[in-house]
Amino acid sequence: MTFDCFGLSADILRAVRTEGYSAPTPIQAQAIPLVIAGRDVLAAAQTGTGKTAAFTLPILQRLGTAPARHRAPRALVLTPTRELAAQVRESVHRYGRHLPLRSTAVFGGVSINPQITALRNGVDVVVATPGRLLDHLQQRTVELSRIEILVLDEADRMLDMGFIRDIRRIIAALPQKRQNLLFSATFSGEIRKLADQLLQNPAAVDTAPRNSVAELITHKVHPVAQSRKRALLAHLIDKGQWSQVLVFTRTKHGANRLATQLDREGLNATAIHSSKSQNARTKALQDFKRGRVRVLVATDIAARGLDIEALPYVVNYELSNIAEDYVHRIGRTGRAGSQGQAVSLVSADERKHLANIERLLGRRLPCTVIEGFEPVAADDRPSLDPARPRPNRPRRKPPQSTYANNSGGPGHSTRPRGTRRRPARTGTN
Ligand code: AMP
Repeated sequence: MTFDCFGLSADILRAVRTEGYSAPTPIQAQAIPLVIAGRDVLAAAQTGTGKTAAFTLPILQRLGTAPARHRAPRALVLTPTRELAAQVRESVHRYGRHLPLRSTAVFGGVSINPQITALRNGVDVVVATPGRLLDHLQQRTVELSRIEILVLDEADRMLDMGFIRDIRRIIAALPQKRQNLLFSATFSGEIRKLADQLLQNPAAVDTAPRNSVAELITHKVHPVAQSRKRALLAHLIDKGQWSQVLVFTRTKHGANRLATQLDREGLNATAIHSSKSQNARTKALQDFKRGRVRVLVATDIAARGLDIEALPYVVNYELSNIAEDYVHRIGRTGRAGSQGQAVSLVSADERKHLANIERLLGRRLPCTVIEGFEPVAADDRPSLDPARPRPNRPRRKPPQSTYANNSGGPGHSTRPRGTRRRPARTGTN
């Protein structure tokens, strides 16, 4: 299949060629015709699948080449984070480079005045985070009464971040008659409820099994004492000669501390999280993208949707207690056909999170103890001792790992199968 099959205009196809895309990704192949046909769409899509082009290309096609005389925005894309808003707007700009359409990004953490000027000058596509868009609505600096197409990008994360009320208030300011597209990596009951309320007779696009992760990603779990995690991470980066790695911590404070310590050890690290100024976040991301920074330490919210091409390694320095975060985090690797490794450093107290992740993925993740980093700290030893009685059994046993025979490689000792305790289901151990 090629992009020529969709009936996209020559100007859009030219931009797609400039991007170097030879064939549509699965989500693009499914979503583009539906969006062009004017359907509401409910799409299961992770970052890295080409979802941005899947909605942007047909939106540009639908908006047409001639801007409306009264230049109020006609398409609105809502995203959970500022970084994602900036990235989506950049994509709109690139895919629409040969069209006379204007777009702008509207998000917090930066001065509102240039946004007001851009909106006043007239734009066709607005990409926004909910909070700042509401500010504009309240100040009457944005006009949403001519929106024809609404996109909720990474809707699950917007709900996780507590944006549901903001989203509802924004929707209330839109015309009743419009096309709605909802993209989400995971489907909780809350997302389904929102979809039911928002979408009219939606077409479902689901190119990957729900909550699945890209097949090109290799998963590795390294049990380790909490106190040895930093040394193990430095060891993996150094011995594995990792050129770049994105590392997730649970807290902003933890991200700062880890980045500072790794940097001191000469690993060239920086942190990105929501307490940093927007400029600092943009700079950290740019430095990482340009290869000036080797280790980017991020919290979940800050890293959401970051488009970092061909990132070979993602490390869960701490597992999130929300299993879906694992899917989102590792969505940053193994993208666009390239191989990726998702490495999780798991201390005893995180085994319950690991169990939840394995249940979500429907499989066990291969577990390898790294020599010299055996979890021998008092708090970690019990969970790895096969002689100890098992903790609470999970309700449903996850299937055997597809990577059961993975070797840890030289210097890695794979624990014999069957000696691994099944993680507990609840947070009681
Ligand atoms: P997204 O899922 O929208 O964040 O896109 C992930 C990456 O895939 C971006 O860097 C896009 O430039 C790239 N991409 C999108 N569509 C295609 C395509 N059809 N072929 C190759 N790369 C693509």
